[in-house]
Amino acid sequence: MPIHEYVPLEPPGCALCCYGFERLERLSDAPLTHCTACGTPVRRVLGAPAVAVGGAHLLREGHLAKHGFTQYRKVGKGRYEKTTGEGPETIGSD
Ligand SMILES: [Zn+2]
Repeated sequence: MPIHEYVPLEPPGCALCCYGFERLERLSDAPLTHCTACGTPVRRVLGAPAVAVGGAHLLREGHLAKHGFTQYRKVGKGRYEKTTGEGPETIGSD
């Protein structure tokens, strides 16, 4: 079974999810949308959590969207704008 990594969309999260966490999943399992411990919205990422935001050049946008991922690029201090996928248009605070 593949191991998938998740990162919280709304820090700080909890002890389980604050730095991201890994979960064994069957291919037929639906991705988690919320931390199982604290309910913080989470997002599944490819590879290390550090490349999920700000590493757009490492990941092909079409591939991400097709697999249900949402990708963001940094547009300002603490703000991210969606580049592909079905998530919110922006994340961060004004
Ligand atoms: Zn949590």
